[in-house]
Amino acid sequence: GTERKHRDLSIPDISFDDIGGQERAKKELKEALDFLIHRKQIDSYGIRPIKGILLAGPPGTGKTLMAKAAARYTDSVFVSASGSEFVEMYVGVGAQRIRQLFREARRRAKRSGKKSGVVFIDEIDAIGGKREGGTQHREYDQTLNQLLTEMDGISSDQEIQLLVIAATNRKELLDPALLRPGRFDRHIEVDLPDKRARKQILQLHMRNKPLDEKVDLDKVAAETFGFSGAQLESLANEAAIYALRDGEKKIGPQHLSAAIDKVMMGEMTDRKATR
Ligand code: ATP
Repeated sequence: GTERKHRDLSIPDISFDDIGGQERAKKELKEALDFLIHRKQIDSYGIRPIKGILLAGPPGTGKTLMAKAAARYTDSVFVSASGSEFVEMYVGVGAQRIRQLFREARRRAKRSGKKSGVVFIDEIDAIGGKREGGTQHREYDQTLNQLLTEMDGISSDQEIQLLVIAATNRKELLDPALLRPGRFDRHIEVDLPDKRARKQILQLHMRNKPLDEKVDLDKVAAETFGFSGAQLESLANEAAIYALRDGEKKIGPQHLSAAIDKVMMGEMTDRKATR
């Protein structure tokens, strides 16, 4: 409807309740965010404000969802970029894009009457990988330097408070400059879901789907060891497609079994492709 059409995309509609499992990660993240929410008090104790949070973990485990939920939890606007966008850029363009991103966050926050903004950078390793030897010239050093400059420029007396959240699945590859105090000095590990979490994630993605009562989600959770949240989301979607193809009104156990196979096969072909 019109409501949706006029929704500001920089105000995310994901909350922590939309993220299945990840209890520890959510708790750690909320604790860090509470610092941001109570920044006046934190300031009066002379505590350094949190500027950067690093989410580390395998692909598809909900890091982007966590960053969006963080924005909503702190009543902030949300802007994002992916490190992979910067890889092929000409010298200087990446740095300019970083500058724009931070400017955009401040501008959107002002426009929507918010006091804070979350800048999310996915695949940070693509811009913040370790500099080998230190002498080698890399086009993306400028991008990384610009990011560090922007982060160093964040202070608690600004009109719009920014928080940078970055995600990576290769934390060990990050340049130590990014991990220094005042930069990404809070690390939160986001892991693959265990059985209980897999069930929760399946339930979340089945919310809007007609599920036959014969389906035992505990069993499905047990059979999906090693699946990420993103794979569970695909599984729910594929199962619904199989039910539709069969002309069934409800998603039955056979549709889920077929979907598990399909997602597992997809995973295998993906692995071959990246080898
Ligand atoms: P990547 O590292 O590949 O960018 P990510 O960790 O950022 O992955 P998301 O983009 O947050 O993962 O997740 C992709 C999709 O998978 C989400 O949009 C959601 O549908 C589903 N998903 C992942 N994790 C969860 C979760 N914990 N709960 C519910 N849905 C999830």
